[in-house]
Amino acid sequence: MLGSMMMRPLKIADILGYAAEIHPRSEVVSVRTEGDVHRQTYAQTAKRVAQLAHGLKTLGMETGDRVATLAWNGYRHFELYYAISGAGGVCHTINPRLSEEQMTYIVNHASDTMLFVDLTFVPLVAARRADWPEGLKVVVMTDRAHMPDGDYLCYEELLQGQSQHYDWPDLPEETAAGLCYTSGTTGHPKGTLYSHRSTVLHAMMVGLSLPKALQPGRRVLPVVPLFHVNAWGLPYAAPLTGASLIFPGGALDGPSLFRLMDQEQVYSAWGVPTVWLGLEAEIKAQGRMPQGLGDMVVGGSAAPASLIEFFEDDGVNVCHAWGMTEMSPIGTQGNLPDYLADKPSAERIAIKSKQGRRVFGVELKIVDEDGARLPHDGEAAGELYVRGHAVTAGYYKNEAANQDVFDADGWFGTGDVATIDADGYLTITDRAKDLIKSGGEWISSLDLENTVMAHPLVANCAVIAVPHPKWDERPLLIVVPSPAARPEVSDLMDLLSEHFAKWQLPDDVVFVDEIPLTATGKVSKLTLRKQFGDHKLPDMD
Ligand code: ADP
Repeated sequence: MLGSMMMRPLKIADILGYAAEIHPRSEVVSVRTEGDVHRQTYAQTAKRVAQLAHGLKTLGMETGDRVATLAWNGYRHFELYYAISGAGGVCHTINPRLSEEQMTYIVNHASDTMLFVDLTFVPLVAARRADWPEGLKVVVMTDRAHMPDGDYLCYEELLQGQSQHYDWPDLPEETAAGLCYTSGTTGHPKGTLYSHRSTVLHAMMVGLSLPKALQPGRRVLPVVPLFHVNAWGLPYAAPLTGASLIFPGGALDGPSLFRLMDQEQVYSAWGVPTVWLGLEAEIKAQGRMPQGLGDMVVGGSAAPASLIEFFEDDGVNVCHAWGMTEMSPIGTQGNLPDYLADKPSAERIAIKSKQGRRVFGVELKIVDEDGARLPHDGEAAGELYVRGHAVTAGYYKNEAANQDVFDADGWFGTGDVATIDADGYLTITDRAKDLIKSGGEWISSLDLENTVMAHPLVANCAVIAVPHPKWDERPLLIVVPSPAARPEVSDLMDLLSEHFAKWQLPDDVVFVDEIPLTATGKVSKLTLRKQFGDHKLPDMD
């Protein structure tokens, strides 16, 4: 027997409609490419989004059309999220840090019909446009006064004179709404095609799971870009819960972020560990925390325990989260339950260094090499599979990529190796491809990195596998020293020896000025492996 309740489709336009009505004064604050700070409320935003949707229609956007963006975090990008999907299009966010080859691949693969671009990226578009789909309309996200020369349309002119009301259609909730490609370490980037349903459910999941950050009156800073997995769902979860959004534009260095957080009284800031390492350095330089900061969400790669401790010691709650593009992206979050709040600091930091517990709507399992489930005992490590309302069911127009990632029961293989303990805490041991296989035993690069990061003279580090004639692979430690001084190799080894067996210790340490990052701001192990693939370890002579 079926229930007899209304079947109203879940749709993205309803989120902003709700925010405009119930949280009309909550703000969208943006550091603009034009150089100033811009403010508007959700009520004002909803009107502009309606105008933009009309503008998109006048440009010929049809249901299902892919409309691309190449832009920083700002209100116009946020408006595009709602106007494109609300009017039936698919908002395709492009990561501007992708290589020319990758970007050309995805613009063509997605068959984008329009591209909205921030002023910063106009030269990039001019250089690459010839290789993109013919007839691609390019709209520059600025006003007439700042328009560049060339064959471009003007964003503000698109809105001018349009009605501030739009009759958002009742699209079937499975309708595609967003498209995001993951950079991937091999092969072409692969697209995840989000639906209205998955996006609205994900927004509710995030709002429910991170209530400290997401409530009326809170001011939230997404440092994580709108071009990287929907800024972890914040453009949807914030308006839904009434939190204000503070968009940082393109300046993501420690001093710029510190200044913005101070000025705007940011309560909760979200981003990858590399960004917070930059902020940590600025906090040390200034000798104080930004005013009002009470909460941080760290994810995208493993947050070092030392980073978590630094902020927690000053009373900032750090929530370590894990997820991926294919999961919209939030899978787990690490806010501690009340009964752990009074535990000694070291114990709390140890739990917070894990990747947290699953959010509602995401199921996790770990399996052995034959696909058999492993126990959730905190000991057994296996490949992590997921299933849920906001998890991809297959890459966009890419059957080949789907072959190896789903198991017979339709679960999605994350490529991460993990343990899950009896309380549900997930610990990512490594990415399967980053584990180091030495003499038939596995060494976790993540564990080694986490320990080395605790050394006060280490600014950043990475551990990679170097091919070895006898052991197959051996770990090489690559360290960026702090500006103050370079750590002694013997000190690093002593530190590691406290936690690891002798055979797990790196065979060598190299110091570098900088570690290469991926397009999403993570340590690029692929580049490091290329750079140091021929590195001669001391015992290989
Ligand atoms: P890309 O690698 O292209 O940036 P994603 O952003 O989707 O793609 O990356 C997802 C991957 O990032 C996960 O599979 C995992 O390996 C890693 N990751 C994300 N969050 C964490 C975390 N908190 N700890 C460790 N690894 C993480």
